[in-house]
Amino acid sequence: MSDVIHTKTVRRTDVQAIEDIEADICILGAGISGLTAALEAAKLGRTVVLVDGAPAIGGQAIGSQVGTLIGLYTHGPDAYQITYGIAEDLVNELKEEGSFLTRNSARTGTITFQYDEIRMGRWFEQKLEDAGVKILLGATLSHVEFKDKRVQHIDLITRYGAVKVKANGYVDASGDASLCWEAGLDLREPTAPIYGTMNFLIEGYDTDVVDQLDINEVHARLVTAGHKYGVRRHDGFLMHFSGKGFMLANIGHFETPMDPMAAADMVLEGRRQADKVLRFLQGEFSNIFKGSQIRAYGNPGLRQTRWIVGEHQLTLDEIKEGARPEDAVARCAWWVELHDTEELVHWEEFPYGHVYYIPLSCMLPKGVDNIVAAGRCVDGDSHALSAIRVMGPCMSMGMAAAHALDMAGSGKVSDINIKELQERLCDNLDRKE
Ligand SMILES: Cc1cc2nc3c(=O)[nH]c(=O)nc-3n(C[C@H](O)[C@H](O)[C@H](O)COP(=O)(O)OP(=O)(O)OC[C@H]3O[C@@H](n4cnc5c(N)ncnc54)[C@H](O)[C@@H]3O)c2cc1C
Repeated sequence: MSDVIHTKTVRRTDVQAIEDIEADICILGAGISGLTAALEAAKLGRTVVLVDGAPAIGGQAIGSQVGTLIGLYTHGPDAYQITYGIAEDLVNELKEEGSFLTRNSARTGTITFQYDEIRMGRWFEQKLEDAGVKILLGATLSHVEFKDKRVQHIDLITRYGAVKVKANGYVDASGDASLCWEAGLDLREPTAPIYGTMNFLIEGYDTDVVDQLDINEVHARLVTAGHKYGVRRHDGFLMHFSGKGFMLANIGHFETPMDPMAAADMVLEGRRQADKVLRFLQGEFSNIFKGSQIRAYGNPGLRQTRWIVGEHQLTLDEIKEGARPEDAVARCAWWVELHDTEELVHWEEFPYGHVYYIPLSCMLPKGVDNIVAAGRCVDGDSHALSAIRVMGPCMSMGMAAAHALDMAGSGKVSDINIKELQERLCDNLDRKE
């Protein structure tokens, strides 16, 4: 018999202790943009605290089972890589162990990577630990002390008490511009729905015949028969992970409001939609999906919710034109992919080889000295943002944010030398091989 474990009586005291944390750079949001910013800032020798309200790192990349990393390559027969840094380590190391599959997309003519989200999550966790990044999870932003154009500190609430973080510079990698929201800054919200999706994984289908599945046939059947199962979206994708026995499904569309009760409803609405899609597949493609079931539902996937009013707003015309702005910090090629109707995604394709740029000014909240936004909450019009919110550009923005704040130190980001910043980011701006 093991030793008895005794108990003691405890009670909350009136004065709650607040844990104080200091770092050079504080990053709000441990999605793909925040993770990249954290690792790049740590590589530069900065002390970093990475904060997220979720109980695990990964944001949508892991929690919402996004499942494919896109936007790292140009499109066309001569596609080349346009994002390096942490992105390159991630792809090389996970490809080697079989957790990243290279896919040559016939639809978009580019190279994408299907990933095993559990392995990718662990990869990031281990890299963060090795780099000495302080990780604060289950910590929701409750207050931003904003004075003299600077964030002075932020307050967070966890299940186990309050935490205050003080840093010289902050990255808003929250996806919803939460840091800027709590700081009382102007933000943008779309005036019509931009739909989200609950991705999910399917298992138990017939892997011997899954190669017969033709996504165009699925789309055609969604139009003619989807309504019988209550499935309203007519496009999307299904991707079998060869050798792993599961398939990623991204078919469904729900609105993504930002009030608490409606946000909670999205979880159940997403799951209802996923169940209907499975019934559709079992009914219409029974030779493949007869014995299938859902292995995992992702968290609700949110595309474009609320984002900063930047020093500059990137526009559709700018990304179509592709001219390089003076303060370019990232290079992109992904097409416009706006989820603006329930049934279909609005695509705008660019010619093969087309690249365009993200300027630092669309990552800088207007009139603020020490915040850089990265990821899906930077400033673009709805069309431009729909192209640059995919994970390749999120990673280049994370890297740019880390370097910009490293250079700013305790000063203003707007004062940094852009040429020096661009030299640091030259692989992401110029390398072509
Ligand atoms: C369904 C779907 C499918 C997609 N498919 C692809 C694809 O195939 N390939 C691709 O490359 N991209 C895809 N994208 C786009 C891409 O996945 C996202 O745009 C990208 O992952 C966003 O990363 P992020 O770091 O900007 O934000 P997020 O991943 O949203 O991370 C933000 C983090 O901030 C935290 N946070 C927010 N507010 C607070 C707060 N107040 N306090 C504490 N923490 C907070 C959140 O918990 C979250 O972890 C898809 C998106 C969706 C929704």
